[in-house]
Amino acid sequence: MQKRDHTKLLCDISELADLFSDARSLDIFLQNIVTMVAEHMSSNVCSVYLYYENKNKLILTATKGLSSDSIGKIILKLGEGLTGLALKELRPICVKAASQAPGYRCFPNSGEDAYESFLAVPIIRGHNRIGVLVIQKDSKNFFNQSDINTCVAITSQLANTIETAKLLMRLKEKPKTHDKQERIQNLEDIKFIKGKVGSPGCAHAPVELIDRQEWHETYSHQKNRQELTEKDLYRAITTIEQTLNDWQITIEKKLSDAASLIFSAQMLMLKDKNFIEAIINSFHKKKALIPAIIKTVNDYALLFDALPQSYLREKKQDILDIGRLLLDTLSDSHQKGGHYRNKIIIAQDLFSSELLKYASQGISGIVVLSGGITGHLSILCRSLELPLIISKDLRLLELPPDTQLLLDGDQGNIYINPTKNIIKQFQSKEEDGLNVLKQKKAVKPKTFTKDQHQIHLLANINLLSDLNTARAFKAEGIGLYRTEFPFIVRSDFPSEEEQFLVYNKLISGMTGKEITFRTLDIGGDKVLSYYDYGVENNPFLGMRSIRFSLKHQNIFRQQLRAILRAGYKAQLRIMFPMISSLDEFCQAKQIVYETMDDLKNDRIKYHKNPAIGMMIELPAVMGILHDLADESDFFSIGTNDFIQYMLAVDRTNEKVADLYLPYHPAILRALKQIMDTAIKHKKDVAICGDMSHDTKYLEFLIGIGFNKFSLDPRFLPRVQPFIEQLDISTAQKKAGQILKSKNFQQIMDLLDIR
Ligand code: PEP
Ligand code: MG
Repeated sequence: MQKRDHTKLLCDISELADLFSDARSLDIFLQNIVTMVAEHMSSNVCSVYLYYENKNKLILTATKGLSSDSIGKIILKLGEGLTGLALKELRPICVKAASQAPGYRCFPNSGEDAYESFLAVPIIRGHNRIGVLVIQKDSKNFFNQSDINTCVAITSQLANTIETAKLLMRLKEKPKTHDKQERIQNLEDIKFIKGKVGSPGCAHAPVELIDRQEWHETYSHQKNRQELTEKDLYRAITTIEQTLNDWQITIEKKLSDAASLIFSAQMLMLKDKNFIEAIINSFHKKKALIPAIIKTVNDYALLFDALPQSYLREKKQDILDIGRLLLDTLSDSHQKGGHYRNKIIIAQDLFSSELLKYASQGISGIVVLSGGITGHLSILCRSLELPLIISKDLRLLELPPDTQLLLDGDQGNIYINPTKNIIKQFQSKEEDGLNVLKQKKAVKPKTFTKDQHQIHLLANINLLSDLNTARAFKAEGIGLYRTEFPFIVRSDFPSEEEQFLVYNKLISGMTGKEITFRTLDIGGDKVLSYYDYGVENNPFLGMRSIRFSLKHQNIFRQQLRAILRAGYKAQLRIMFPMISSLDEFCQAKQIVYETMDDLKNDRIKYHKNPAIGMMIELPAVMGILHDLADESDFFSIGTNDFIQYMLAVDRTNEKVADLYLPYHPAILRALKQIMDTAIKHKKDVAICGDMSHDTKYLEFLIGIGFNKFSLDPRFLPRVQPFIEQLDISTAQKKAGQILKSKNFQQIMDLLDIR
């Protein structure tokens, strides 16, 4: 039988979504999966074994092809048989003839002795072992590398869902109690709060507090509704299933790189038999549906709270969201479109995946109480064009539901119940303000100073959706693709195939132009919701960035494979973040070469000669710039981190924000030193941190010799005309004066900083 196109299976999100619409329990869900995978892979058998860490047992939970009597009866230890080995060593195991393979364990009663080709792929989430997917075929030597890649991609898509389902089952076993958190009293009558701009734009809308304790308060007036029945509950569930599907489709269309199955956990919770039964049991006792839902959701949320892994916190939010959706759908004033639509979200903090969920429902803006303006949440909000303000003011958490807020995301101002006058001012500001479409015409494909020195302006890309802006504003290429965003907004590590698809889209959106892939830069404030980092007292000084990639080389190599494959015909550049030494740079570079060898052996097309460069972000490199310039094809200065590490000021910490000074003489002189080294070694050098869009510093930077900047493309219409009125000799003279200045005030005067 002809095999289907594997890419189709991966892309076909609706195929996976269909599985949810029938699944009433994990077993049925898994049975649907194995049936679909067996059919797609033309295999005789597809089975899923789930791993129970506390018992160290892998149990056959669903199978297509083996005897159904074996379900629950085939039990392996970690490391036992090829299936157990795949999970122990966290790698796929593919054998041509199982009967001759050392370590193979056959269970003849299941009928598996008839099958020779064998492929076992571990299902893992972060470092958590969840289970194994096994496919088998009667003929020998049936599965190839592409089948392995496909199964890895399938398991990575399913890991989160299965983990959630397992958790739901486990939670059922051990109920816990909880102390209700005390509310902060004495809410003042506040009118205005000053914050920091995380992402620009304005929003005027009612507020929605993401309060993990008081999520159901809005519905308190509905509690005594006696007319609601079990039928209403099931009707609401069906409506919500449809809504979640719609949201998934919407976000897939908008952010194809980011939105893999982001609602799957909620979907599964909604269908969990035990969860629904718990609501119904409680309904029979309480004789009212709304309190029964609130109680059950709270019970589940408390159980999630009690889990030791902090990264599972996200699951609690998922169950509260389901509670909210249920109450919303049952509410007598139910409006289609989701609870958060046209609302301004206030939260203590948010995961990127949470942000995406809210964004897909059409929120108007966000206020968070933690994080900094160069943090990842801000960067992501800019890509999503959502205003974000960061404020430490705890009173924000006390605002009554539906309080009207006006966010001025250009100034960082939050107006509470704004007067008509203020609203009017903002309406007129929006009308004559930055009209993106009007600006498009103004941007030219090339940028020159007044005296005709060319300056290259490239784009920083976080999500594929930024490409439209970059193209519309005629970016000369991509100077920084932050590859971690598809990682941080997902619910599990994307597989090589998934990355390959995303990178391909990026490259085909910028054909013929230079594209710089920065390898994974997670850690610090870029936290993966699905990866347990353990406790790090100083995450910015911890296991982040290139350190993570070198420690987890399987993830690093997978990413490099995807980049080299997708960049096969592109003007490809690869750069490593946060390099601290020549040894580290050479080690990372060596892994790129090894990856190329692997691809060659696998007979897969790849880019054979990408430029390999590094980011300058750490003070340590200042003493070894010449050595690095000998080895590196190019430098790109990440001023966001460079300033943070040079000055020892956490870029996300509001308390020390006034010490985060790009104009500190040590920073400005270091930039000059980097430029001089690059000139001496004839190396390409660019700036890709936020300084490159800040017009306060551009004259200085151009004055010391920089002619290449990579910036958030939304700033291109503002930056290009600014550069066009600069004169190089004036810029050089001014830069000379600035470099001689010793104190802040002198420099601020010269840079016109107030
Ligand atoms: C930087 O540090 O300046 C940079 C561009 O990287 P990121 O902001 O993604 O850390
Ligand atoms: Mg950085």
